[in-house]
Parts: sequence; structure tokens; C-alpha cells
Amino acid sequence: MAYSDFENFLNSKKIEYKLNEPLKKHTSFKIGGNADYFVSVKSTDELILILKELNEKQIPFFIIGKGSNLLVSDKGIEGVVISLAKMDEITVNGDILKADAGANLAGVCLKAQYFGLSGLEFAYGIPGSVGGALFMNAGAYGGEMSQVVVSAEYVTFSGELGIINLSDMKLGYRTSIFKEGEKIITSVSFGLKKGNKAEILALMEDFLGRRKAKQPLEYPSAGSTFKRPEGYFAGALIEKNNLKGKSVGGAMVSEKHAGFIINFDNATSQDVRKLISDVQKTVLEADGVLLETEVIFVGKE
Ligand SMILES: Cc1cc2nc3c(=O)[nH]c(=O)nc-3n(C[C@H](O)[C@H](O)[C@H](O)COP(=O)(O)OP(=O)(O)OC[C@H]3O[C@@H](n4cnc5c(N)ncnc54)[C@H](O)[C@@H]3O)c2cc1C
Repeated sequence: MAYSDFENFLNSKKIEYKLNEPLKKHTSFKIGGNADYFVSVKSTDELILILKELNEKQIPFFIIGKGSNLLVSDKGIEGVVISLAKMDEITVNGDILKADAGANLAGVCLKAQYFGLSGLEFAYGIPGSVGGALFMNAGAYGGEMSQVVVSAEYVTFSGELGIINLSDMKLGYRTSIFKEGEKIITSVSFGLKKGNKAEILALMEDFLGRRKAKQPLEYPSAGSTFKRPEGYFAGALIEKNNLKGKSVGGAMVSEKHAGFIINFDNATSQDVRKLISDVQKTVLEADGVLLETEVIFVGKE
């Protein structure tokens, strides 16, 4: 009943949506069942409108960025998956670059380079959205979001607008205040430094080249499966235990980079989860180290 009311609401407000949308189309793992509703919002106002309706009807929702750090259940996600991908404007004002949450990180890096602004080179090649990158405090090659973010605008789950400064974001290793829930990032402001355009581009290309050489980018994945345990490297521990190439169904520990689990042949979410737990068990027994997942599990159990 609540769902048909919600559909009437979407139609009456002319908000774009898809019914029973396969989430494998929206995740870099190419895994995941359906979302009952998949809604692409075009503005903060539209987002607020939807949130108020969802709250009133008590319909669950989930915010998706580029889906590059997600393992979505084979049974899909109940309720509404909201994408901000159509909110992707990027503006530059002096040394400040402001990007909507749905903007592609790669596009943001290229825009910064075009304006001769340095600081975001490390992020070139991380296949996420700006919102997802801040949520995860994404990082690589010695850089991370916490070094360049100044502030972010957000909407609370109940539809209130807010702004948060870097010092209040609780950014840590692959974590942020946004993981506590209640806030949807709508835009992020980055404080960058004037630099040399050619040098910025050369560094970006260097980082991308290193990714192509070391990471199994030819297969669907969600990047590093595990967080770096203190004092160790997840990939090295996995390799040491001869787990490279180990597979469950269509999921495999990459031969190229042991820190990645790849979808090499129509893997299910269950395949990946079983492989993750097998790897965790082996490493824990052999080395006493618990590998925590960086990849986020989401959806119906
Ligand atoms: C090949 C490959 C390489 C990668 N390399 C790196 C790397 O070097 N470093 C690194 O840190 N990560 C890396 N990743 C992981 C991933 O790209 C990052 O974590 C990225 O920041 C996730 O962004 P996303 O938009 O895809 O988020 P999603 O995967 O869509 O979502 C991740 C989480 O963020 C939340 N979220 C997304 N947008 C918002 C928003 N606007 N407001 C509130 N919450 C939001 C979602 O609800 C979810 O909980 C890699 C992934 C792949 C596939």
C-alpha cells in the first residue's frame, strides 16, 4: 500500500524512477539483486521532497554513489535506492573547487588539473563519486580526502539542510561521520593549491599507470576487499597463505593482486561472501590477524 502511494507521489512530481532495477548494473562488482525502486534525483530540493515522503510512509532507502565499494545482496535492496549521479556540477572559484556529490571523482581531478590546481592527483583512478569518496575518506598513494576537503553540504535523513566543516567530519582510515548515518552528502568543497598543469597531469598519469600495472582492472571488483590491518598488508598476508587464485563459484582472489577479489565468471554475492570468510579464517588461523572488510555489504539477508 505504502509503495503504491509512493509511486503515485513520484509520478505526480515527475521524478524519474525505475521499478525492480537490477543493482548489478550500478555496482563495479556487477553483482546484486534488484532495488524495488531506483530513483535518480536531479537536485537537493528533489532529494528533500523524496526523503520527507519516505519518512512519512516509513519506506526504507539506501544512498548509492558509483557503487564501487559495495557488495549488494543477491536478494537486492528493499525499498528505494537513491542515486545522486545526476547531481554532478563542478565549479571552481580561486583555489576552491566545489563538486556535487554525484560527480565522478575522475572528472573532478581532471577539472582541477585544467585549472592548474594541485592536491587531488592521488584520487585520479579511484572509481567513485565525490559523495562516496568523502563517506569512505578514500585515499591512495599517500593522499586521502581528509587532506583536501574543506567542508561539505548535506541533507539529513529527515530532510534538513546542513553544512559541516572538515574538523567535524571524524575522517579516519576509510571512515567518516557519515558512516554513522543520518547525513546525505550533497556537495563537497576542496581547498587546493596553485600548481603546474603539466606536472599535475604527469602525476595523475603516473598514479593511473601504477594502478593499471598492479590492479586487475580487466575484471569487475570493488577494489581492495579488506582494510589494511595495522602493521601488515592484507594482500601480502593473503599471498603468503597461498590464497591467490582461490575461488568460490565465480569469485576469485585475483592472481594479479591478492588484495582484490574479482568477479571472474558471473559471481553471486554469496560466492564473494563465502570467499571473504574463507580468506579471513585462513589468515586468522595462520597469522592471528583478522582481516576486516573495506567493501560494504548491503541488502536483504
Ligand atoms: C578498481 C577499484 C579501485 C579502487 N581503488 C581505491 C583506492 O585506491 N582507494 C580507495 O579509498 N578506494 C578505492 N576503491 C573503492 C571505491 O572506489 C571508493 O571507496 C569510493 O570512494 C566509493 O565511492 P562510490 O561513489 O562508488 O560509493 P558507493 O560504493 O556507491 O557507496 C559507498 C558508501 O558510501 C555511501 N554514499 C555514497 N554516496 C553518498 C552520499 N552522497 N552521501 C552519503 N553517503 C553516500 C553509500 O551509502 C555507501 O555506504 C576502488 C574500487 C575499485 C572498483
